[in-house]
Amino acid sequence: MNSENYDVIIIGSGMGGLGTGLKLQSSNPNLKKQFLIQYNIPGGYVNGFKRKGYYFDSGAEGLVFCGEKQAFRMVLDEFGVKQKYISIDPVETMQFPDKKITMYANGEKYKTELIRNFQNEEDEIRAFFKVIEAIQEEFHSVVKGRFDPTFTEYLKIIFTCPTLRKYATKSFDYLLTKFITNKELRDILAVYTLWLGVSPKKIKATLAAVIFFSPYYQGHYYPKGGMLTFANNLAKAYTANGGEIKCKTEVKKIIIENGKAVGVQLGDESVIKGKWIVSNSDIQRTTFDLIGEEHLSKEYIEYILDLEKSVTGFSVFLGLDNHLDDYPSHIAYNIKAESYLERIAKGNYAPEEVLIRIPDKIDPSLRNEKGSALTLLTFAPYNLEKNWGTKEKKDQKEHYTQIKEKYTERLIKITEKVIPDLSKHIVYKEAATPLTFERYTLNSEGSWYGIKKGQKRPKQQTPIKNLLLAGGNTQGAGVPSCFFSGIKAGQIILKKLKNK
Ligand SMILES: Cc1cc2nc3c(=O)[nH]c(=O)nc-3n(C[C@H](O)[C@H](O)[C@H](O)COP(=O)(O)OP(=O)(O)OC[C@H]3O[C@@H](n4cnc5c(N)ncnc54)[C@H](O)[C@@H]3O)c2cc1C
Repeated sequence: MNSENYDVIIIGSGMGGLGTGLKLQSSNPNLKKQFLIQYNIPGGYVNGFKRKGYYFDSGAEGLVFCGEKQAFRMVLDEFGVKQKYISIDPVETMQFPDKKITMYANGEKYKTELIRNFQNEEDEIRAFFKVIEAIQEEFHSVVKGRFDPTFTEYLKIIFTCPTLRKYATKSFDYLLTKFITNKELRDILAVYTLWLGVSPKKIKATLAAVIFFSPYYQGHYYPKGGMLTFANNLAKAYTANGGEIKCKTEVKKIIIENGKAVGVQLGDESVIKGKWIVSNSDIQRTTFDLIGEEHLSKEYIEYILDLEKSVTGFSVFLGLDNHLDDYPSHIAYNIKAESYLERIAKGNYAPEEVLIRIPDKIDPSLRNEKGSALTLLTFAPYNLEKNWGTKEKKDQKEHYTQIKEKYTERLIKITEKVIPDLSKHIVYKEAATPLTFERYTLNSEGSWYGIKKGQKRPKQQTPIKNLLLAGGNTQGAGVPSCFFSGIKAGQIILKKLKNK
């Protein structure tokens, strides 16, 4: 056994893992001796890569609550993360074959744009936004600087926030259908249910109002230098505060003695001891590969086995020989959130819609003089065509390449409805299937948002003493949300130490 003994060992440096590390370093000098073990490079789904001078974000493409004096930014500043943020405005341009709607990072401007496009629905739009604005105002007046209310804040909400209280148990779908009669308009207002990958029926009205509508009131932000720079800056702050990071290393086992986690074992069989272990790894992997069924009750195992993963997707990365100067940075083509999500849930993938991201339109420092880089994003089923050809009886690699190419061409064709002649300008092309996402992040089924929303989430404190969870597999997805779940894991450790 390695004699090295750490205060904290963190498995995985996604937002959850980095949130825990940064929180503990800033709060308790006795918890500074930390070791963060990362499978490949820091960041998890918050990442990017450069090929032939073109920069691409590989996962997340925007951040909420990163404006001046906003929750996420304040906490990152406090932890010493040196990062600049650029406003994404318009937040999104929703384009349909017959319509284009610009979604501004300004509630009044956005409402005016909606009313211009849906003149008969003006009263409905105003009434709907009145509720959204009231929920936001009430929430931020109580929950200052964060977005997960404490118990006391919950009580305050119950007694002092009439709109929040009224919609607390209602779904976002209820709110939409109560005010908006036009289905097309409902779909536009529901576009950011895509952020969690579930239909408005499965999302609380209050959560939608606070999170999905925040870009129009609090802005939407892009980290200068892209997501790769953002992840690196978090990792830099962590090491500057004394933490160690070991990349390109996989934790294979959590060492458990008498029901308590005491260390981890790496792929080369070496063992590292630690007083506290935090897993930012996928919940299924943490349970079955890292802990092992022999350490857990039958009920806990059954509960984990029943958890469904969130959606996954297919992305295409293109480098062009021209610049897309006349296009906005974030374009949603033909997205009708509810029917789109239903189709994917049934395992059907015949994309008619696409999200188009052009990062150098927001951040000129990413510009390649040769031409623009763009990313195309769609949800896609994990088990499509025998798991993307890999479960075929023979020639799996060939099948995989063929299927990947088929859908790459399909997405390019759809994108040409927005950017004509795109295919004539492609000089670099790459694609990521659900299997690629799974391989890079070790998230089972390549799930984009941890476990599917609407299920009872695993508690951060696992049944194993001194072993906690952080990230999308215990908390709701999203960069700030996962980061705050990491902070929460840190707070649990701090509280336990205090009570000792
Ligand atoms: C395509 C896409 C677009 C998105 N867009 C946005 C967006 O615009 N805004 C937003 O807020 N959110 C977005 N999200 C969601 C957001 O990126 C995620 O919810 C969040 O980053 C997940 O963080 P996490 O803490 O769960 O860790 P993960 O990102 O899952 O990272 C966990 C890390 O742990 C490592 N790891 C796992 N097991 C081990 C092990 N055994 N040993 C060593 N290392 C291990 C993995 O390699 C991985 O790097 C997007 C997600 C995707 C996929």
